[in-house]
Amino acid sequence: MTVIGGGLVGSAIAWGLARFGVQPLVLDGADLDLRASRANFALVWVQGKGLHAPHYAMWSRKSAEAWPILADALSDDTGLDVGLLQQGAFTFALSDEELDNARADMETIAKETAGGAPAFEVLDGAQTRQRLPHVGTDVVGAIYCAADGHVNALRLFHALHMAMTKRGAAYRPRHAVRTIQPVADGFVLKGDDFSILSHRIVLAAGLDNERLAPMVGLACPLKRSKGQILVTEKCKPFLSCLTATIRQADEGGIMIGDSEETDTSAIAASSEISAVLASRAIRVFPALADLNVVRSWTGFRVKTADGVPIYERSERYPGAFIAACHSGVTLAANHALVVAPQIAASRLDATLSAFSAGRFNVEQTS
Ligand SMILES: Cc1cc2nc3c(=O)[nH]c(=O)nc-3n(C[C@H](O)[C@H](O)[C@H](O)COP(=O)(O)OP(=O)(O)OC[C@H]3O[C@@H](n4cnc5c(N)ncnc54)[C@H](O)[C@@H]3O)c2cc1C
Repeated sequence: MTVIGGGLVGSAIAWGLARFGVQPLVLDGADLDLRASRANFALVWVQGKGLHAPHYAMWSRKSAEAWPILADALSDDTGLDVGLLQQGAFTFALSDEELDNARADMETIAKETAGGAPAFEVLDGAQTRQRLPHVGTDVVGAIYCAADGHVNALRLFHALHMAMTKRGAAYRPRHAVRTIQPVADGFVLKGDDFSILSHRIVLAAGLDNERLAPMVGLACPLKRSKGQILVTEKCKPFLSCLTATIRQADEGGIMIGDSEETDTSAIAASSEISAVLASRAIRVFPALADLNVVRSWTGFRVKTADGVPIYERSERYPGAFIAACHSGVTLAANHALVVAPQIAASRLDATLSAFSAGRFNVEQTS
């Protein structure tokens, strides 16, 4: 079995496969690739997930609930603590319109999941300040959801890599797959200086899934989505709470995120976007104005047209599977503990059929 891509999705699946006795080969790209797994905001987030896609709302909830099992299993395999904290989180509104829209979305998700999505509260400005006295006066209210949390995403990434190799996965960086050719007994994977025959493959190549999928009768239509994040100097524990766009990492820096931009023509961070992110953050927590921003970066999300993941087994070439999603941190527990065992058994449960790319009505070529 070969996993193509060693980001959060590929490494979670590879580790999950190895735990089920399949020791995969993981072919990964190189440092200059676009890699969302090195650029994310580290939330294990369910709030607002799955608007008009109740299966995705429930999938996110399932993963968030399984996250403590994932964190413990990774710690057992590696000795690393990935810093999981699931103590609830706020999404702040800076106008009545923002609060009304957020409330409407949350109520729709609750209705569409027949109450299955995690419970939430809508707080007005006074209620928000009662819970968080240091919130600025521009905050008109908030949504609170007790199911949300965060981790140290780079440590998670490191732990998954360490765990998968400890369990027998072979990791080959700088082995970008250029072409995949289906043959009688599997797939020939060709790169610049290698050619490998593999009986079964998992496409987990992030943005490159869009190019690779049609080679094995699959499809992975992605949309453009760039996100920018700011990080301040480290400071003593200051944020007693987690929020959708402001979090204190366990190492002390405050992360401020993250933009959602459709212009992906350049990877560089923009000072205009930084200004908007910083200004909103200071309106929420005025005390942040005293901190220096020490870094900013951007990343391109691996986002499908409807924001919902794609998991699929190729009908034409049943040895080929694909996994593509935004929220690879949140969904890491599902990928390692649910999707990987199914792939190990050469099947995908019917419950995952709603995640097929067939929903986009795209032609799946080979
Ligand atoms: C700004 C931002 C904020 C985010 N915040 C969050 C968050 O708070 N919570 C959350 O859950 N998610 C978040 N995400 C999303 C999350 O980071 C992604 O869902 C996840 O990292 C996707 O992982 P991946 O493995 O699919 O992709 P990638 O990280 O892109 O990894 C793909 C890997 O495949 C390799 N590769 C590419 N092409 C080939 C090839 N042809 N052959 C072999 N290897 C190949 C690449 O080198 C790379 O290592 C955020 C993303 C961004 C950009």
